Amino acid sequence: MAMTDSDIELPALPIDDPVADGDGVPLGLPPIERRVFCNRTLNLRKVRAIGYDMDYTLVHYNVEAWERAAYEHMQRKLSARGWPVDHLSFDPTVVIRGLMVDRDLGNLIKANRFGYVKHASHGLRRLTTSEKNKLYARTVVSPADDRFRLLDTLFSISEGVMFAQTTELLDARLLPEVMGFADLYDGVRRALDRAHIEGELKAEIMARPERYVELDPAVPQTLFEQKLAGHALLLITNSDFAYTEFMMAYAFDRFLPDGMTWRDLFRIVIVSARKPDFFGTDRLPIFEVVTGDGLLRRCPSGIPADGVYLGGHAAMVERHLGLDGSEILFVGDHMYGDVTVSKAIRRWRTALILRELEDEILALTRFRPTQRLLMDRVADKERLEHQISRLRLDLHRDRAAANASPLHLAAAEARVKALRDAILALDAEIDPLARAAEQLGNARWGPTLRTGADKSYLARQLERHADIYTARVSNFQLATPFAYFRAPYGSLPHDPGPAMS
Ligand SMILES: [Mg+2]
Repeated sequence: MAMTDSDIELPALPIDDPVADGDGVPLGLPPIERRVFCNRTLNLRKVRAIGYDMDYTLVHYNVEAWERAAYEHMQRKLSARGWPVDHLSFDPTVVIRGLMVDRDLGNLIKANRFGYVKHASHGLRRLTTSEKNKLYARTVVSPADDRFRLLDTLFSISEGVMFAQTTELLDARLLPEVMGFADLYDGVRRALDRAHIEGELKAEIMARPERYVELDPAVPQTLFEQKLAGHALLLITNSDFAYTEFMMAYAFDRFLPDGMTWRDLFRIVIVSARKPDFFGTDRLPIFEVVTGDGLLRRCPSGIPADGVYLGGHAAMVERHLGLDGSEILFVGDHMYGDVTVSKAIRRWRTALILRELEDEILALTRFRPTQRLLMDRVADKERLEHQISRLRLDLHRDRAAANASPLHLAAAEARVKALRDAILALDAEIDPLARAAEQLGNARWGPTLRTGADKSYLARQLERHADIYTARVSNFQLATPFAYFRAPYGSLPHDPGPAMS
């Protein structure tokens, strides 16, 4: 379909900087929560194709509504197996993305970037620091270990909540058939998978999409403009054809220019893609989706032409487009299935969609004056601790020297005591500030990407595998299809700064 630039109706941009050129085009940077953040420099003009995941990437769901529906399906399946779960109810604040499930001990844990456990809960009870240290002081956690499972998408929220709640049933010996926490987790997981596979859940979503889908008109417009700018667009989703067709039409078609449908945006659509295996080295077969009702035709020699396909693998897409991995950007919300493997195996450029970021950035912004106060107080404490250490060393030296005057020793001891009191007073100020910082975003677990002053395990994965990250796809519209994302000057502990003076 022929479109010209003047046919496009651009939405009002949420730009907080009033700088504009003569025609009133806003030229300032988008507000911080709508920006695209960069770990590894990426020039969008060098990217020839942009691939998208669908669920929670192009189509955003109301997490509370969707996860509650998934939870209730799970609950019915578990109840049918005789588990006493009918009295339980869904509470989305129990878990956040990025936590790990410990299948041995039945705990939920939040680890820092090194894999050390910083917070843990058993059931709904948070472990005390000494309980946590007793269990995990010598443990480095990793999802590569079969003992741990990372909750790596918003689709994991329902499963995490159900696991936490049923842990308490197992402890109370109300689940006689369950052989331990690993068995419990696998049982919960199977119930969720069955709800997904049997299609009841998706049928419910399709029957009332307005309840579950959060429409964002700027997402179809973003893709439309990327296509105009010359990017080849791809859709690569694990969802099946019927669901994809329904959901994309629902979320996209109404916001596209007249006569255009979501299909016109993409050169290649791949449904039932089986990510992460799609990005792996197995040569999975591909089928063309020939008719609207999903009739398939096998394509033994790869992708013959642009169109809609089922299955296949990433190398076929590269071959069909004549591109190498470094020219393809893949955008998805699943840390492992969309980002880790596409980067590790295919060396595609990668973008993670992390919706929680938007609220967390706003919370961090509001908290900034308190954060500054906290950092100042910690720096004060560090200075006093250094002074006290120096004085203690002097005292040791004086005591060791035969001729130290008792008066001098008593004065030095009094100074040490005064410093110790000052540090205690500072601690009383620091503790509530640090606790408030640890509750930003979620009162139980704090911000997704931080553990205290450090990065969370999820943040470490994000910086290793995602070249860029942002809260929603439409932020690429604000950045424009020509953006040059530059990695910031990374800070290191030895960088000279105010804290060093
Ligand atoms: Mg997804």
